[in-house]
Order: sequence, then C-alpha cells, then structure tokens
Amino acid sequence: MTMPDTAEAREAREAPEPRPGPTLVELTDVSKEYAGGVTAVRDVSLSIGYGELVAVVGPSGSGKSTMLHLIGTLDRPSSGSVRVEGHDIATLSDRRVSALRAHRIGFVFQQFHLAAGRTALDNVADGLLYTGISRRERDHRAEEALTRVGLADRLDHLPHELSGGQRQRVAIARAVAGDPVLLLADEPTGNLDTASGQGVMALLRELHAAGTTLIVITHDREIAASLPRQVAMRDGEVE
Ligand code: ADP
Repeated sequence: MTMPDTAEAREAREAPEPRPGPTLVELTDVSKEYAGGVTAVRDVSLSIGYGELVAVVGPSGSGKSTMLHLIGTLDRPSSGSVRVEGHDIATLSDRRVSALRAHRIGFVFQQFHLAAGRTALDNVADGLLYTGISRRERDHRAEEALTRVGLADRLDHLPHELSGGQRQRVAIARAVAGDPVLLLADEPTGNLDTASGQGVMALLRELHAAGTTLIVITHDREIAASLPRQVAMRDGEVE
C-alpha cells in the first residue's frame, strides 16, 4: 500500500522541519484540566534538551501520564505552551502535529499495545505505514529494529507466543523503527518481573546511548535513582 500523492498526504507524511535550538521539549506554564474539573497538570514549566535521559517519578495520580501525553502531542494543554523541536504545538494543524508525532516521537506503554493475531514483524512494520514506504522496505526496517532489540529469532511469533519482556521489546522495536528523536516510555517495566524489567531498562539505556532522547515514567525508585535526571511530580506540579 502506498499513500496518494496529494498536498494533504504530503503534509501528513512530512514532519515539520526542526527549528534549531538546544531544547527538544519546552513546557511553559502548562496546565491540563479534564472535563469534570480535575486539574491533572498545573503550571508546569520544564525544558528537556537533546540527548537527555529523564525519569519522571511521583505517586499514582500525580499527573505523570498526563504530562507525558502533553509532551508526546497526544493531547493539547488547557493553557500554557508545549514546544517540541522548537514548534509551538498550538500553532500547528492537527495534521502537522500528527506528522510531527509520527516521525519524531516513539511511545512505549506499560500494556505493550500490540495487535493480537499479528506477528512481531507485522506489529513493527505496521508502525511504519505513515511513512508511505513500500511493504518490502517496511518489513526490512522492522526486521532490523527487532534484531536491534534481540528478537531476530522471533519475527513470526504472535504476541501470545512471547513472554512479557519479549512483548515489550517488540513494542520498543515498533517505537524506534522510524528513528524517532524522542522516546517516551510510560511505566515500561510496570508489567514485567524484575529480570525482564532490567533487560528492558538496559535496552532503553542502549537506545539512549545511541542518541535518542528518552523520558521514562517509573514507579521504581531504584530505576529512577539510576538515571541522570529525575523530575518529581506531586498533585500535578513538578516539585
Ligand atoms: P499518574 O500518571 O501520575 O498516575 P495521571 O496523569 O494518569 O497520573 O492522572 C492525573 C489525574 O488526572 C488523576 O487524578 C486522574 O484521575 C485524572 N485523569 C487522568 N486522565 C483523565 C481523563 N481522561 N479524564 C479525567 N480525569 C483524568
């Protein structure tokens, strides 16, 4: 399948050019209020530079996931500004925001979010549909990404035929197959036993060492303490 070559398709396919600067993510006085009056994130200002590895810590309900969604452009703030690669998200059309997200940001979630009934290879290759590249090239890149996470011998396995740690590796391969500049992980070890969790963290550190900026939400104090920067949240605010 290839995308039609209309102006709209091109706009969706090509991410906005990064604006030069040292800051990859810049939140300024950001608040997010949900319907029902819950203020999940309150007046947060935060800069994250290219190449950082940041742990986001805090009790359940303190706004960590909401902040990660705002940074990942999955959601827009109620007030304040979110900049990614120098672009104020509020000034971009939904299509441009989607393109920015697809090309520049990778996501890893606690629940893996793999498609059941699709092989590891297909799960990763499907994540590249937005690029408009051929099926063959998608499969090739997916195989490379799965090899990178140590699953070269599991390409044809279905999610239920993989361990939790392996499923999370597939999800990580999907997140990095498109070479994102920013990788966001929401409790990536939350559903894993200690040994698998350590393996997944080691893999994330390798990706960071290879140049990806990484923001990880974690409940695990030991993991957080081992990372170079911690952002602590409480009641929607950064402490
Ligand atoms: P954390 O990730 O630290 O556990 P969250 O960002 O998930 O915190 O949630 C922060 C607060 O916002 C919580 O009080 C939660 O109940 C509320 N919240 C989260 N998502 C929604 C939503 N979609 N609608 C309404 N309230 C929400």
